[in-house]
Amino acid sequence: MSLDDLLGGVDRSLFYRYNGSLTTPTCNEAVVWTIFSQPIRMDKKLVSVSRLSLLGPRVPESQSPTVPEVQWSPAPEQQRVLVAAPQQPLEQSHRPSGDITGLPNVLQSSSAHTVDLQSGPALIVSLLSSPARRVVPRAVLQSNSAYGTTWCYHDASCGPAAWPTVVSPEFCNGSRQSPVNIDTGSATEDSSLNNFNFNNYNSTSGLTTITNTGRTVKVALQDLTVSGGGLSTTYNSLQFHLHWGNGYAVPGSEHTVNGMRYPMEMHIVNMKQSFNGNVTLALADSEGLAALGFFIEVMDGDATASPASWNTLASYLANITNSGDSANINSQISMDDLLDGVDRSRYYRYLGSLTTPTCNEVVIWTVFKDPIKVSKDVINRFNSTVHIGNDTSILMINTYRNIQPNQEVKTTVDNSGSSITLASAQMAIAAIWAFTGF
Ligand SMILES: [Zn+2]
Repeated sequence: MSLDDLLGGVDRSLFYRYNGSLTTPTCNEAVVWTIFSQPIRMDKKLVSVSRLSLLGPRVPESQSPTVPEVQWSPAPEQQRVLVAAPQQPLEQSHRPSGDITGLPNVLQSSSAHTVDLQSGPALIVSLLSSPARRVVPRAVLQSNSAYGTTWCYHDASCGPAAWPTVVSPEFCNGSRQSPVNIDTGSATEDSSLNNFNFNNYNSTSGLTTITNTGRTVKVALQDLTVSGGGLSTTYNSLQFHLHWGNGYAVPGSEHTVNGMRYPMEMHIVNMKQSFNGNVTLALADSEGLAALGFFIEVMDGDATASPASWNTLASYLANITNSGDSANINSQISMDDLLDGVDRSRYYRYLGSLTTPTCNEVVIWTVFKDPIKVSKDVINRFNSTVHIGNDTSILMINTYRNIQPNQEVKTTVDNSGSSITLASAQMAIAAIWAFTGF
């Protein structure tokens, strides 16, 4: 008799996968579990015999017809796993997503300063469903199973186009999804969009750690807040992360402006201070999170290693080449240093969502008009240094979601019109002088 005989009738291409433990002491959390979707079919009598033989003296085969039938009652979480059809999307509580690699950081922080757009949903899902964590259909995992991910950017089976269907349909196919293209001609001016207060953004101890999450590079922040800017209350700045393409010439910002995509985009993730880091509350509030988006554009000229703040930030990438790697930031750079050159009084505003699964529609978005200028070589370090898994995995590139249907976009009132007119007039006069030979 072979093992194949014992497994007869089971389609071994259909299974679930999660990272778990031994089910007996010492319960070491070192097991990659595979649960096959189809059961091995056995005669009822045989099932009864095999169970009772473990409970007491062996039952003679001749007596087996008189043995009461034993009903097998799987534990609730076992039932959930076993009844789910592999081609069907599982319910959210069974199919956590986001950065598991970022989770330990989140959990060890009582103030949850490391929760983010990417790990936030993972945190709540994990807390709600710890017995059945990370159980995902093979169809979703197969392209990326080595990294235990449920969504990705690089493969059709788990990439952005699949999020609204097989990966994360509960919110990703909603009606206020991000990112969007900003049509500047359609944005309406709103005088309530006043200046922000960026508190402690000049602190050189505000950036604490930098992490390769397998999908982005994330920097945890501490003791920074934002208010004003048309926000209803004060928000804690928890982290920022980046989206990029494949080098400065293959752009990868998430938002676009009049159809134009920038090389990179920085997202600073903020949570209402009143929630005290409670992700559950944030995800239940339509403005629970405030995201600040900054475009990154190629710096003019042939500068390299510029600006110094971004060069310093990018220098850490070599220390976090693998998913899950993290490094402390002890360079004296502040958020103000990283945002240098941006007029933070000029921005767009709309209500949207997380741009990663589970795409919760709880984000009040601010997208600043002025880009941050960074030299080409620094931009290129992002797509050429960090991997989505270990060193043998592919490089992390094109880490952005496709554009979602337009939302109503508001804009700060443009007060620079008079100076533009003046500058234009001066140029016109200069042109006349040049033309007339004066
Ligand atoms: Zn983002």
